[in-house]
This record gives sequence, structure tokens and C-alpha cells, in this order.
Amino acid sequence: SSESPLLATKATTVRFGGIVAVKDLDLTVPSNQVFGLIGPNGAGKTTVFNILTGVYRPTSGDVQFEGRSIVGLPPHAIAQLGLARTFQNIRLFGELSVLENVMTACHPRSRSGVLATMFRTRRQQSEEREQRDFALALLERFGLAAQRHAPAKSLAYGNQRRLEIARALATRPKALLLDEPAAGMNPQESVALMRQIQQLRDDFKLTIVLVEHNMRVVMGACERIQVVEQGQTIAIGSPDDIKRDPRVIAAYLGTA
Ligand code: ATP
Repeated sequence: SSESPLLATKATTVRFGGIVAVKDLDLTVPSNQVFGLIGPNGAGKTTVFNILTGVYRPTSGDVQFEGRSIVGLPPHAIAQLGLARTFQNIRLFGELSVLENVMTACHPRSRSGVLATMFRTRRQQSEEREQRDFALALLERFGLAAQRHAPAKSLAYGNQRRLEIARALATRPKALLLDEPAAGMNPQESVALMRQIQQLRDDFKLTIVLVEHNMRVVMGACERIQVVEQGQTIAIGSPDDIKRDPRVIAAYLGTA
């Protein structure tokens, strides 16, 4: 299509001292797709997420969201543009309840100060009710509504991963970056997650970038996959293209 991709990197390089983590990377993520970013350990996948979300600034090259450069914007500003992520290592507020974890993400604009709390307008009150309903609907979708009052840390591991996704969705993003969401999940949970990812794309018109080592999930969920090795692209294509690509098999799938 003629519309610009939602997310892109252009000739992007990231160096950490002597290490080149990402080299001359062109990434083009079309809207409303599940896009897989795969590669062996240390290939640079998490670093790509970190430059897309403003955690790191690329050494050279551009990073674009909806056709505009976002290089130099701080992470919170990029989040407000509509980019949400989850992390390889779960980062929940363990002591807060399941619902509170999602609610904390529901407030993209800050409303602080005593006066703000004392004189909440009717509009704010109805907005808060709406946010709570939205948070509950998200928990419902991930099968977590019954546990909404439990502390997040009391949830089983797979449920904590799902809660992280629910929390990311509470910001109402346009794009969602998922860093190894199936890690630690059993096979049934992984297959369920794969379907949920596609459902999210459809229901929220979301663009999803998936970094995942579970090949069944990647091949089942993604429209398009980009394979990186040592920071460089070695293949891009449909799951079937990728499964058959001799370079990918040699570098990566052969050992899986
Ligand atoms: P994995 O699948 O194991 O999570 P990955 O593909 O996400 O790996 P990255 O974590 O992006 O890979 O790492 C790419 C390279 O950059 C590695 O050599 C790593 O050691 C290096 N690296 C990443 N972050 C930093 C940093 N903050 N400082 C120095 N080196 C880093």
C-alpha cells in the first residue's frame, strides 16, 4: 500500500564501545500486522526495541514512527505517540493488585496536585470510570478478571506475562512491541498466546512486533518475519519463505 509504515529504522547502527549491536539495519513494519523479529542470542533484537522506544539513541541512521523521525525523543514521549512494549524480564508492580497494575498505565496524561484531586470535574470522573471499565475489559480478555484484587506477584508466571501485555494495552497504543512473551510458558499457553496476539491485531487494529524464540509461536502468529544475525538482516519474508531460507537454516533454525 502507499501509506508509510508505522515503524521503521533506516540504515540504523548501534554501537556499545567496540561492540556493534545493530548494523545498518533497515526495518519496515507495516500497519496492522504481526511482524516477527528473530535471530540467535545476541543478534541485536532487544537493542532494536531499545532504539524504537528511545531507551538508546542510534549511533547513526534514523528511526521513524508514522513517517516521522523519533530519534532523540525520550521514552515517555514515544510512548505517548502510541508505542507500548513489554520486557524480556517481567516488570510489574509486584505489591500492587492486578487491576492497579493495569490502571497505572491508563493515565497517559498526568493529573497531580491536591487541587486536582479535590476538584475533580465530572468529566474527569467519567473518564476515570471509563478507564476502569477498559482496564477490567482487558483483564477479562486475558482471563485475569477474577484475580483483579490479588497482588501481581502472586500470579502464576504465565499470568504475569499476560498481565504485562494487558498493562501495555491500557495505554491504547498503535503499536505493541512484545519481547519474548512466550518465554516460560507451557506449550498450551504458548499456542493460546499465539491466537491472542492475532486477535489483538484484529480487535485493536494494532501493529505488533514480536521478538520470540518459540518458533511455533513466531511462525503461527506473524505475517512477515525479519531475521537478524550479529545486528544485520539475513532474511525477510513470510513464515514459509523464512523456514525454507538456506541462510536462516544455516545460521539459526538448523540448531533449533
Ligand atoms: P537475546 O535473544 O539473547 O535476548 P538479543 O538479540 O536481544 O539477544 P541484544 O540484547 O540486543 O541481543 O544484544 C546485542 C549485542 O549488543 C550483544 O553483543 C550484547 O552483549 C550487546 N549489548 C546490548 N546492550 C548493551 C549495552 N547496554 N552495553 C553493551 N553491550 C550491549
